[in-house]
Amino acid sequence: MFARSATGEGEAAASAESDIWKIAELGEPTETIQADVCIVGAGGTGTAAAVQAIDLGLKPIVIGTGGYANNSEFLYGVSETKNVNIQALGMDCRDGDGIKMAKAAGAAMAEGLGTVMWCGPVTLGAVTATWTTDAYSAGVQPTLWLNQNGERYCKEDLWIDDFAGAGIAVRNQERTFVLFTEADMVRWETEGPDGQVFSFGTPGTPLAEAREVLEASEGCHIGDDLAALCAEVGLDAAAVQATVDEYNKACAAAAGLDGEDTSADEEFGKRARYMHAVDAGPYWLCEVGDGFYTTCGGIKVNENAEVLDEEGQIIPGLYAGGSDAGGLYGDSYDVKFAPGSQAAWAVNSGRLAIKNAKEYLGK
Ligand SMILES: Cc1cc2nc3c(=O)[nH]c(=O)nc-3n(C[C@H](O)[C@H](O)[C@H](O)COP(=O)(O)OP(=O)(O)OC[C@H]3O[C@@H](n4cnc5c(N)ncnc54)[C@H](O)[C@@H]3O)c2cc1C
Repeated sequence: MFARSATGEGEAAASAESDIWKIAELGEPTETIQADVCIVGAGGTGTAAAVQAIDLGLKPIVIGTGGYANNSEFLYGVSETKNVNIQALGMDCRDGDGIKMAKAAGAAMAEGLGTVMWCGPVTLGAVTATWTTDAYSAGVQPTLWLNQNGERYCKEDLWIDDFAGAGIAVRNQERTFVLFTEADMVRWETEGPDGQVFSFGTPGTPLAEAREVLEASEGCHIGDDLAALCAEVGLDAAAVQATVDEYNKACAAAAGLDGEDTSADEEFGKRARYMHAVDAGPYWLCEVGDGFYTTCGGIKVNENAEVLDEEGQIIPGLYAGGSDAGGLYGDSYDVKFAPGSQAAWAVNSGRLAIKNAKEYLGK
């Protein structure tokens, strides 16, 4: 199962072999291909690697367990996030096992270990790993976004152009909230959401199921008395009211402007089409966490997907890719300029791992 001992190579890491295997057993490798090939993980990386490994009958270890998105202790330990609420979207089970395995084998960590594919607000208690819902779409609309001080902190329609940028803005606050009115909710229920990023939550398609889910969620506080809602969540009501008053003035100035005009929102430059006054209850004040899809930092690899140790030396027979390997990104996934690059990296690093493992074995 472990190529290095079988070939007699990689003695420096051989002492860690039992540790590696112990950790691998904990996670029950989902892709064990043939008797002596170990591919840990079955996502983009593992699938690409497995397909080639089957053909070639290779014996290396390819690590691709998808990073550490579901291990909040790990994430708070390495990431710069300040937000007390974080929410992984998409799937459970990415606990950093591959990174732990590689570390046990002497691997170095790449710069940017705390890199996370942030994506903006997610209403607490309303959205889980299954995120493609009306409630998710409603909670992330470019309404009035507030931080722990009751202040705005970004132009809320940033989410539509660059969700990673919006996610980083949320990450830099300690607590985050979205505030909208019953009129907004009714508009979304009849006309669909104001803004769209993904293939779901489309303007023109009513968000028929948002209300019920949000009403039942721990994050949402609904009522006619905004000050009372602020008290419920621990926000300074006077500070929130001051922000609302300023925002409403900007909304009044935006009325009648072209939808793309950003001049009315002097503070942040949100487009006029998204400026809806917060001037009548019932109000919806929802605490949101910083949502993210995956972590993108991890094991240090070279251009061949070979794992490197602290001295920059290759650990023979050990490969890593996808979200377990680092070095691809800085602060976050740059969705605006290179969408799909993280998934493409997962597939291609799996391919590179096997291509180079083949050479390692002289095949
Ligand atoms: C909701 C969502 C949206 C995304 N959107 C985009 C996008 O638009 N563009 C983009 O480029 N990327 C996107 N990504 C990221 C992209 O999907 C991932 O970067 C890619 O899937 C990573 O591939 P991977 O092989 O590293 O990990 P994964 O695909 O996560 O696969 C890891 C596998 O390892 C398994 N595993 C974990 N621990 C163990 C263990 N101990 N033993 C055995 N198996 C284990 C897991 O069960 C999983 O099957 C998105 C991710 C999510 C969740």
